[in-house]
Amino acid sequence: MSDLPKSDEYFSQIDHKPPKLTGWMDTPINIRKGMYCYASNPKSVETLGLPYARPWNPLEDDWQLPENWQQIIHEGLKERLERFRSFKIFMDICVRCGACADKCHFFLGTGDPKNMPVLRAELLRSVYRNDFTAAGKILAKAGFGKQIGARPMTLDVLKEWWYYFFQCTECRRCSVFCPYGIDTAEITIIGRELLNLLGLNIDWIATPVANCYRTGNHLGIQPHAFKDMLEFFVDDIEEITGVRVDPQFNKKGADILFITPSGDVFADPGTYTCMGYMILFHFLKEKYGFDVTWSTYASEGGNFGFFTSHETMKRLNAKMYLEAKRLGVKWILGGECGHMWRVINQYMDTMNGPADFLEEPVSPITGTKFENAKSTKMVHIAEFTADLIKHGKLDLDVRRNDHLKVTFHDSCNPARGMGLLDEPRYVIKNVCNHFYEMPANTIREQTFCCGSGAGLNAGEDMELRMAGGLPRANAVKHVHKKHGVNMLACVCAIDRAVLPALMEYWVPEVDVTGLHELVANALILPGENDRETDLRGEPLPGTEDDTNE
Ligand code: SF4
Ligand code: SF4
Repeated sequence: MSDLPKSDEYFSQIDHKPPKLTGWMDTPINIRKGMYCYASNPKSVETLGLPYARPWNPLEDDWQLPENWQQIIHEGLKERLERFRSFKIFMDICVRCGACADKCHFFLGTGDPKNMPVLRAELLRSVYRNDFTAAGKILAKAGFGKQIGARPMTLDVLKEWWYYFFQCTECRRCSVFCPYGIDTAEITIIGRELLNLLGLNIDWIATPVANCYRTGNHLGIQPHAFKDMLEFFVDDIEEITGVRVDPQFNKKGADILFITPSGDVFADPGTYTCMGYMILFHFLKEKYGFDVTWSTYASEGGNFGFFTSHETMKRLNAKMYLEAKRLGVKWILGGECGHMWRVINQYMDTMNGPADFLEEPVSPITGTKFENAKSTKMVHIAEFTADLIKHGKLDLDVRRNDHLKVTFHDSCNPARGMGLLDEPRYVIKNVCNHFYEMPANTIREQTFCCGSGAGLNAGEDMELRMAGGLPRANAVKHVHKKHGVNMLACVCAIDRAVLPALMEYWVPEVDVTGLHELVANALILPGENDRETDLRGEPLPGTEDDTNE
């Protein structure tokens, strides 16, 4: 962050004018510090059994590629064109209308034309045209390939793929505006799969995936340490509320298995969301006999395998159903996460299921049937809590959140990937008195990405992250100025990890929270003390020490 210019200087240098004279195919790749993530560690690639594990450096000319790398890419592309009909259609139907061009946060924040979704897709489509279409093959032979946007696969093209497919957060905002429904995120996913055939991943993805494969979570936390970390939160909760909560681990025969991203166990402000879950579960246990267990084996809901390949995603995700089966629970409750829910909602049932051994989820407290989770058997905690509130099952003191003026960031995957738009808002409005929406074209289906998703939340690509997060930050700044908003709520662990840095850079007056931190601040536990602080140890409204006044 210290290498970056001040935010207003950065803002004033963004240039959206098209480059002069040279076409995009003739604009050479310039891999720039701050805009890319380090290459994957060979040990992690090896752990996953992925090919061509080796040290390599994106800044060096020689990427240590296998001799037949062009053939590998060609065959990999052919296989995927045959396997994924949507991908083949996306290669063929783009009319280059440009409706998506200014919808990508990376284009808006960098001004780099290759970050326009249409052009990002053209990076791959140009090779498809050259190698797999009749016109491309004929014209390329005659030396006119470029006229129809076709070009052969070269080392420069490969480097361009790597640079720009790891400058896409697979957020799908562009697809909302495409009249043909072309989903550039799907093209990025295939592009990254092809790069992985040559061992060209980034380390911020490869190592978490390898950790997950070894220990069940991205951070590589061992089962006993995972339990220890939650037990630290038990002490913290007792200090704040006077109540000692008692989470259950690996309990066979529990009604429900709870799985959340490990990011919430590890770093603030996610830890407060994690404490929020624990407080909610304790309340429900005391009042209604709620029987939920955590797992030290399925200790990760997130799935960075999704940012590597379909196969890796499937392998990491398998543990959720396996653990549910081993413990003999009825259904699974999932925590606040983004891409975890895209994987669950779009792929899990067919990829790892059907999970016939689980029951169709029904709330044991309200009797609500979660019809939308009929096939996956997995319910989002925002829905679960919204249902509890709707049925008047929570005892809430909303005034405890009165020091907060809250806005809500729709995380891309729950919003665009599964349509979870109203439940988080319903929960916030019932636990906070002050809620303000950001402008309509920056929320709900049109939400702007945090700029650090899909594995780009590393430290070394901070310029890219701050540029990509600019449109989101700008909308937050708007409600901060207009309404005095000082808290940005979200339902995604990556958001909780990356938005604080984004806010610090663009809107330092605004902090970041998860939904269940707000719920737990307002929730009155049976037998609790008069609380003086919120979960962060900050004085609650009306309890501030006024001795200095
Ligand atoms: S909006 Fe759709 S059809 Fe138009 S350029 Fe973008 S991807 Fe192509
Ligand atoms: S999926 Fe998101 S990051 Fe990728 S091109 Fe589209 S808008 Fe940009």
